[in-house]
Amino acid sequence: MRYKCMTELNSVLEKALSFERINDEELLCLLEEKEKGHDIIRVADINNQKINSNTVSYVVNRNINFTNICGLNCRFCGYKRTKRSKDAFLLDYDKILEKISDGKNKIGIDEICVTGGINPDLKPDYYFNLIKIVKDNFQDLHIHAFSPQEIFELSKAAGKSYKDVILKLVELGLNSIPGTAAEILAEETRSRICPEKLSKTQWVEIIKTAHSLGVKTSATILFGHIESNPDIVYHLSLIRQIQDETNGFTEFITLPFIPYKTSLRKKVDSTSIQDKVFKFYAILRLYLDNFKNIQTSWPKIGVDAALKSLKCGVNDFGGTLMEENITKSAGGNFGEYLSEGQIINLIKGAEKIPVRRDTLYNYIYEKNYENQY
Ligand code: SF4
Repeated sequence: MRYKCMTELNSVLEKALSFERINDEELLCLLEEKEKGHDIIRVADINNQKINSNTVSYVVNRNINFTNICGLNCRFCGYKRTKRSKDAFLLDYDKILEKISDGKNKIGIDEICVTGGINPDLKPDYYFNLIKIVKDNFQDLHIHAFSPQEIFELSKAAGKSYKDVILKLVELGLNSIPGTAAEILAEETRSRICPEKLSKTQWVEIIKTAHSLGVKTSATILFGHIESNPDIVYHLSLIRQIQDETNGFTEFITLPFIPYKTSLRKKVDSTSIQDKVFKFYAILRLYLDNFKNIQTSWPKIGVDAALKSLKCGVNDFGGTLMEENITKSAGGNFGEYLSEGQIINLIKGAEKIPVRRDTLYNYIYEKNYENQY
């Protein structure tokens, strides 16, 4: 689908300021605007203040990447390994429980985020038992696990519908699902960057099935690779439509593309992503009018840029993570752990009020005092 930008920027921004819905042609106009990005950012900051006042939330969590062995070949990925790679790994349940205990004891995690490569040797029982064993050992932990790609593979391997797979995972202890594997939902570009992944239609079906069962998911986009502005319009329009229908997304997360160790790197001008990402966050705030929460990504853009994004429409700083393998494997070097104290002080340094939240954005408590850490 092609859109043509015929709309005046000022009239789009006036609409946004009065919380009138921006249409897809106007979204394209915002994406194509080259000179007045600061005006878009200013309006997004005003709107974000009205929606979220001065608060910035964060979650105390730990990532668990249980395997990097993967049978797919996404061109933007620096994480996957083959079985024969020297640094290939697959965690057993004891190791996973040990990592969770470590996260509980050291920083009091509220959530684990569990994803991995599509390891052809793993049987459905590995996934089902993983959820059960974790929940049996940590009843109060929120398990945010298995992307739509993993649900898709489980459905194929177990011979069950998406609905039955999700219901079984929930019965065993799953609480919510990451909305990753979306990458870019515009099909032509999707087929160029991840031809073996589940299709747009399958991604949408799995997400809507989860929402219909009361299982919340995040929504994501892989940003800054070979996608065009019309591709972004297509992607965001679809995400907004789903949210209108289900209200099942908790937040929107932008995943800026880290090119350095990926096969897509030669096609992409990686120097421009830092410039583009702030305007992009602002556009998300204006277009995704049915999302309260827009999340930044400090491991991908760095802490300084993440703090700057808090003035561009972003209201969530993401998590402590403890361990971040996917960005690091693609050549990202912004670290993989921030303590809760560091996050609080960073947010306060940006003149915002830090609020600890759970995965579903219930606020746990505010930490708004001086020099606590
Ligand atoms: S992005 Fe995920 S599915 Fe694709 S190659 Fe990497 S690990 Fe495999």
